[in-house]
Amino acid sequence: MTTSSPIDVAGVAISPDHFVDGTRLASPETFEVHRPIDGALLGRVAMGLPEHVEAAIAAARRAFPAWSALGAAGRKPYLDRFAEEIARRADAFCTTESNDAGVLLSRMRHGVVPRAMLNVSWFAEHALRLQDRRIETEQATHRVRHDPAGVVVVITPWNAPLMLSTWKLGPALAAGDTCILKPPEWAPLTCSLLADAAHAAGLPPGVLNVVQGIGSTTGAALVSDPRIARVSFTGSVPTARTIARAAGGNLVPCSLELGGKSPFIVLEDADIDGAAATGALMYRNAGQVCLAGTRLLVHERIAARFVDAMRGHVERLRVGDPRDEATEVGPIIHPRQVERVAGFVERAVDAGARVLWGGARHPFGAQYYAPTMLADVAQDSEIVQNEVFGPVLTLQTFASDDEAVALANGTDYGLGGVCYGETAHAIAIADRVRTGFIWINSFGIRDLAAPFGGIKRSGVGREGGDWSFEFFCDVKDVVVPKKPFKASFSHR
Ligand code: NAD
Repeated sequence: MTTSSPIDVAGVAISPDHFVDGTRLASPETFEVHRPIDGALLGRVAMGLPEHVEAAIAAARRAFPAWSALGAAGRKPYLDRFAEEIARRADAFCTTESNDAGVLLSRMRHGVVPRAMLNVSWFAEHALRLQDRRIETEQATHRVRHDPAGVVVVITPWNAPLMLSTWKLGPALAAGDTCILKPPEWAPLTCSLLADAAHAAGLPPGVLNVVQGIGSTTGAALVSDPRIARVSFTGSVPTARTIARAAGGNLVPCSLELGGKSPFIVLEDADIDGAAATGALMYRNAGQVCLAGTRLLVHERIAARFVDAMRGHVERLRVGDPRDEATEVGPIIHPRQVERVAGFVERAVDAGARVLWGGARHPFGAQYYAPTMLADVAQDSEIVQNEVFGPVLTLQTFASDDEAVALANGTDYGLGGVCYGETAHAIAIADRVRTGFIWINSFGIRDLAAPFGGIKRSGVGREGGDWSFEFFCDVKDVVVPKKPFKASFSHR
């Protein structure tokens, strides 16, 4: 089938086709992609049909022997060029993702695109250090190898398509795996540009494939195929359950980075204004951020002062068009998601919650919801227990450290957290909070060397640094005895 005409997004030409075996592959069926800012139709993108899934798996399998045999040093020049090609397309990525996913242009330019490059180049460099780790014992030398695992399926959500796709593809490719990326159907366009960058960098055909499509069909076909070696998924809990069941049937390991309902604890000895300014950051990306601290837990003696300070910061937030570099809060991805957010707030208010600010759609546009804070919420209520994934926070107060910890740990989620207070005090509290990570007097500091992931319903496994390679590789112990081995049935 011939390739389709590109989609034009503010002057950026984007292929709507899959990218399989180094070439574009069109589909007889397509799905619509809309701009969250105003709901405008951006274009139609290829639907991944069974034959496209088959072609991608076959291509990735064909490419695997040569790519894995290159070794980390042999792969590094390709991946460095891939990172350079991402950098060369910085403007296109920024324009596309702010139109397609509603991510702030300023955040794309200063945060996401530099990070996407680093996701590729850092892991290419880091993979060099994984060669032949040795464990010496009296009896033997254990040469611990990290061998490429095979074909990896990468599935990402719409709230950060470029960042999250490269966060998984970077280490998987550096490890020597070949990859199939299934982009999110509500924001699939930057992943298509990523395929252009890989192609321009000269990645051999089949090493990185992009199959567009809907999760429940295209995604489901990919993750249930017994020929794949790994699934790396970021998304919601219900989808993770479906994927884990499908992959589990084939004993294919999954890394699952899921939702959150993270606590944001403000102790009595906290810098109140610093905490309040950081609290307002929870509305970034219109609250569509897995690691946001959405449950404000504030010591009762400072709660009134904290609320006043945070209200001041929230009132100054600039809600608007994400393509305007001054905007701080943009749109919600999809009308269905706006309905979902509004429904959560309505039900919370019906159950007795008090709206401190927001609590309604925002006049800027149909897909905007006002930054919202709800107080008088019960710990066992829906609004405290379930992830909204929108600009809606809750406020609870506590009277003691023990109560703060109990509230923090009182949901089924365990992704992240924030704790503001005198440093030693905040660390002592953080040590008792059951999450995958927690920030002390700060928010969002990440490093590629550090582990990332959640516990409880927030996920299974860790990615980042060595943890990514533990997942994307087959770890093998090659045992070389130090003395001649004498065969004996009584040998231990
Ligand atoms: P989602 O689970 O609906 O979709 C995520 C991806 O899974 C999409 O690409 C979708 O097409 C695909 N998918 C859906 N059904 C599938 C199936 N049966 N088989 C294979 N693939 C399938 O999630 P979403 O609404 O796109 O994203 C929001 C969620 O992601 C939130 O819960 C958020 O907290 C979470 N998230 C987590 C992190 C993290 O790092 N922990 C980061 C960002 C977002």
